[in-house]
Amino acid sequence: MQQSHSTQGRPSALALVSRRRLTGAALAFAMLNACAAPRQRVLALPVLDGQPLRVVYAHNPRFERLPAALMAVILGRAQALCKLHLRLELQFAAPTEQPIATLFRGVTPAVWNPLKEATYDVKNNTGDRALLVKTTRQSLARNQSAIPAQIAFAQPYLLSKILPTNVASLSEALVDTQLERMRLWMALKGLDGRALLDESVFNEYLAWIYAPRTAPWPYEIVITNQLIASVEYVENSIHTALRGGVSNGLTMQSPSSRYGTVSVLSMFPFTSQDAVTRLLRGDVQGQSTDVVEAAASLLAHELGHQLLHLGHPFGSAACVMNPPQLLQFSAWTRGLNAMQCPVGNSAENKPGVVRFSAVDQ
Ligand SMILES: [Zn+2]
Repeated sequence: MQQSHSTQGRPSALALVSRRRLTGAALAFAMLNACAAPRQRVLALPVLDGQPLRVVYAHNPRFERLPAALMAVILGRAQALCKLHLRLELQFAAPTEQPIATLFRGVTPAVWNPLKEATYDVKNNTGDRALLVKTTRQSLARNQSAIPAQIAFAQPYLLSKILPTNVASLSEALVDTQLERMRLWMALKGLDGRALLDESVFNEYLAWIYAPRTAPWPYEIVITNQLIASVEYVENSIHTALRGGVSNGLTMQSPSSRYGTVSVLSMFPFTSQDAVTRLLRGDVQGQSTDVVEAAASLLAHELGHQLLHLGHPFGSAACVMNPPQLLQFSAWTRGLNAMQCPVGNSAENKPGVVRFSAVDQ
């Protein structure tokens, strides 16, 4: 019933979390949960009721605070972009604020421990590189016919000087690049001088996926100043690897959200001025990114997943549902053209193409 969506990772990740893509401990955890029940219900395509979408700002005090005025401008621009690209007339409620820990109160050790086994432990440097290469290779090989195209896409962004020639060497090069960039994230310091990626799970992709399943998230949109960057043995992909495991947008199941899913916008990749982020954004030689345009476009992209269940029309530069490469938001937003990409113009850009399984809390 559930489509194994070949979302190429997480410029904006779709949390479909199919059983086929979960392995080992994560699968065991999933089996305990309704998401892996024998008869899965698929979320119905939302019927919009005109009510404002609820917005929360999830604040981590160890990161710079996101100014309320900036958030208001981003939401205003996102409203216009949703109308332009998605033909959706939306209202956003004024953001409320919650400490990030409140949103993660459901991610107890009992919830996290099995998910941790599916996560490459960068913080303690105890990850299994061979397993990561293997699962990455398996993920790439599902699309065997496209391997030469995948190599051509990845090559300019790989840190390795040796050109991959097949799926095995591509997997090795991707993992090396991913782990090196992840080490760069690990070296970033917070306002208090300690490593930004601390002992909390707030940077962990799988913790974000499970947080709204394990505690009520009565919102449709979450905006956070938290950096989400992590490495998993499951769902690894070219895009995820090249970006060093960073997510800038997520849309995942959330039983307390009005339409069954919630969209997360992580502002760190848009606003941070650290050298790694700037490099991945392509901000070089005085060039900078238009934060409002980039973040608002990404939020519109996520709302395309949430409200229309749209997929990723990869390679269609005019489409807001085509994810940005690396963190190159400027190039991405420059290429968007709503006239050239009306909703429904391709298989991945048709409402309902993504089938989210319904989950219970
Ligand atoms: Zn997406």
